[in-house]
Amino acid sequence: MKKEIVINSLNIDFKGEFKLNNQLFTIPGVINGEKVLVEVDDNPRFKKAKLLKIITPSKNRVNPICPIFNKCGGCSLQHIKYQEQLVLKTKWMNDLFYNKFKKNFNIPLVLGMKDPKHYRNKNQMVIKKDKNKIIAGMYEEGTHQVLDFNNCFIQDEIINKVQEQIKKLIIEFKYQPFDEDKKTGLFRHILVKRSSSTKEILVVLVTSKLDFPGKNNFVKALIKLNKEITSVVQNVNDRKTSAVLGEKEVVLYGPGFIFDNLLGKKFKITSKSFYQINSLQTEVLYQAAIKEANLSKDDVLLDAYAGVGTIGLICADKVKKVYSVEIVKDAVKCGKDNAKYNNISNVVFVNDDATKYINELAQRKEHIDVIIMDPPRSGSTKEFLNAIKLIKPKKIVYVSCNPITQVDDLEYLLDQYTIKSIQGVDMFPFTNHVETITLLCLKEPKK
Ligand code: SAH
Repeated sequence: MKKEIVINSLNIDFKGEFKLNNQLFTIPGVINGEKVLVEVDDNPRFKKAKLLKIITPSKNRVNPICPIFNKCGGCSLQHIKYQEQLVLKTKWMNDLFYNKFKKNFNIPLVLGMKDPKHYRNKNQMVIKKDKNKIIAGMYEEGTHQVLDFNNCFIQDEIINKVQEQIKKLIIEFKYQPFDEDKKTGLFRHILVKRSSSTKEILVVLVTSKLDFPGKNNFVKALIKLNKEITSVVQNVNDRKTSAVLGEKEVVLYGPGFIFDNLLGKKFKITSKSFYQINSLQTEVLYQAAIKEANLSKDDVLLDAYAGVGTIGLICADKVKKVYSVEIVKDAVKCGKDNAKYNNISNVVFVNDDATKYINELAQRKEHIDVIIMDPPRSGSTKEFLNAIKLIKPKKIVYVSCNPITQVDDLEYLLDQYTIKSIQGVDMFPFTNHVETITLLCLKEPKK
């Protein structure tokens, strides 16, 4: 049945929500207040709604820039003016924190970008054969279909260009993409990382096996594509899963890594270790987090879930000592190298599970003044939070890429800590993600 609906609320994924016959429906691509025509199938088994027409567009509506907006699913907020995206993300955070803590925190506007395009410093392209034609790009949302497209407007423009050139080179050299069913062919993915500060480019060729016939000539042609390609790595992925990278790597050209600069410090980027995707906004994020931490020269800082050590290293000259804990071995190695490149000697790097390590610190009765924690999307653990309560740092700065798990973690700390401030940072413009920084302070003991 066709139905005219006014969208009154957006859900947690910024999709429009409406109720019909007591059933809840969601549709992407709409804005609060818009009157739309939808096709509804209200059979509880098939229950779905499809957007047919926007009848009264919102004043905040813009035409999506990207030709595959409806297919890729990556930038689901493209139909909304950028300033309004920031307003909506801020409202989303306010609602999330209000619903959890029944308190209005008056969260300030999410910190956005001046020019929110071409911000991604890393992209992976899938290579496949489709009816005898080699195609390369990203997966269509929710499917295993590859969209033959390398002109993504949130991607670094040079990465787009290099990827398109590599695709042509693969065709020219007559290499075959890996076929998951037949288990034939060589190329699986091409991963490209580029630093906008140093301009260096790292190309990672993900192959199905180690044997790479004609690789010398291929690499020679590859580095001619752009003089800023300073490293080429072969990553061998013979796994059956959809994980992009395998364990084994061979450096085919250059040192096998590139450098990026953040807030005056130099960081090594490899194929495997985590590195923030949007370098410009990472500086905004870190500056905001460090401001909240308000560090002093005598402080001991714990940087938990540290990646390649960025936050701890940037804070190192503001404090006495930093403990930096991270679970990925390669990232910790990068962290140690990063300390050397920046002549920093007061950071202790630990390759361990953050929960296990903070418990050791608690048992040793180690004194920690400030914790900056930046866990993955799943959040931290109850044991980690319990250990914080034993150590009693005066401040915790909790940086989160998933505020939904963050609020649960925060709730667990509120018997001993008070939320002092919350700030959102737009690390991924046009997508429905927002990064949050929450400052918690230890409650004064009751006299
Ligand atoms: N603070 C860093 C990294 C944040 S991403 C930065 O800003 O770049 C989260 C990091 O947590 C990743 O590097 C991931 O490898 C690490 N991680 C995930 N689970 C962990 C665990 N249980 N213990 C320690 N580190 C973990």
